[in-house]
Amino acid sequence: MIAGPCSAETEAQVLETARQLRGMGVDYFRAGLWKPRTTPGYFEGVGAKAIPWMQRVRREFGMPICTEVAFREHVELCLDAGFDLLWIGARTSANPFLMQELADALKGSDVTVLVKNPINPDVDLWLGAVERLRRAGLEKVGVIHRGFSSYEKIRYRNAPGWQIALELRRRCPDLPFFSDPSHMAGSAALVPEAAQHSLELDIDGLMVEVHCNPAEALSDAVQQLTPDGLLRMLKSLHIRSAESPDPAVRKAIACCRDEMDALDVRIVEHLADRMEISRRLGELKKDNNLSIIQADRWAAVVRNVCAAARTRDLREDFVRSVFSVIHDASIDEQN
Ligand code: PEP
Ligand code: MN
Repeated sequence: MIAGPCSAETEAQVLETARQLRGMGVDYFRAGLWKPRTTPGYFEGVGAKAIPWMQRVRREFGMPICTEVAFREHVELCLDAGFDLLWIGARTSANPFLMQELADALKGSDVTVLVKNPINPDVDLWLGAVERLRRAGLEKVGVIHRGFSSYEKIRYRNAPGWQIALELRRRCPDLPFFSDPSHMAGSAALVPEAAQHSLELDIDGLMVEVHCNPAEALSDAVQQLTPDGLLRMLKSLHIRSAESPDPAVRKAIACCRDEMDALDVRIVEHLADRMEISRRLGELKKDNNLSIIQADRWAAVVRNVCAAARTRDLREDFVRSVFSVIHDASIDEQN
C-alpha cells in the first residue's frame, strides 16, 4: 500500500497527512516533489525543498518514502536523500530518451523503482521502459497501472484498458504489479470502484492519493481521498485470491476450465471452417467480377447471428462485435 498526497505542498501538510495515515497499514508514503502538469502556470511542485519534509515522515512516523522522478537530477537528489522507492510517471515512461537517462542515473543503486504505464496504451513501450531499468542492473522493478489518455469522454479520468494490464500480467506474471485507482478514476467518489476492479487482476498493491485536506490541494484536488476516506475504502474492498483453499471448489473450477478449453478448440475449428468458405467465396467473386464487400450481405449476417443470440440469451452487442472481427478477417482473406 502506497499512500500520500499528489504533491508535497507544505511541511505541515506533508506531516499532517502522514500523521493521519499512521497505523493504517501504509507501506510507503508518497508525495510528488516535481509535478508534470498539462498546462504551464499551474503548481509544479516545491521541488527539492520537500526532501527534508519527507525525511521527517520516515523518521517520525516510521514510513518508508517515495516520489516521482523524471530527470537524472531528480534521481541523484532522491538517492542521496535515501528515498526507499521511486516511481516514473506516465508521461515519462512514454519517452525512451528520458527512460534511458533515468536508467543510466539509477545504475548501481538498489532502490525499488515502479514504472507507471505510458499515457498511450502500448504494452511494448511499457515493458521497454522496464527493460531499460533491468539492463541498468536494477533488480527491484515493478509497474503501476494508472490508465490511459483517451480523447473520448469517459466516466474515468483515464481509460482503464484492463485488457492491456492483463496482457502485461500474462507476459510478465512475476513482475510486481500495482494499481493507481486515483489517477485512473480521477474523482474521489470513483476511486473505491476502480480499486476493487484492479484487485480482480490479483495485483500486488495499490497507490492511492490521500491528502489531509483534499479541497485545498494544489494538484489533483478532486481525486484525493481524506485519510478517513482511505480507511473506509480499505474496509470496503474485497481482497480476492486466485485460488480457493477448498479442494472441492478447486476441482469444480478445473472441470469448468477443461470444458471451456475443449469448447475453445471447437470454436477455433469452426472459425477455420468458416474461413475456408470465405476463401471459396472470394474465388467465386473474383472469377465473376463481383465486389468483395457488400453492405447488404453484412447486414444479413448481423441479422442472422443476432437472431441466434436472442434465442440463447446472449447479448446482441457482444455477438455483433465478435462477428465484426470475424467479418474483417474474412474480407482480408478474400482480398
Ligand atoms: C502522480 O502520481 O501524481 C502522477 C503525476 O501520476 P501519473 O504519472 O500517473 O499521471
Ligand atoms: Mn496526482
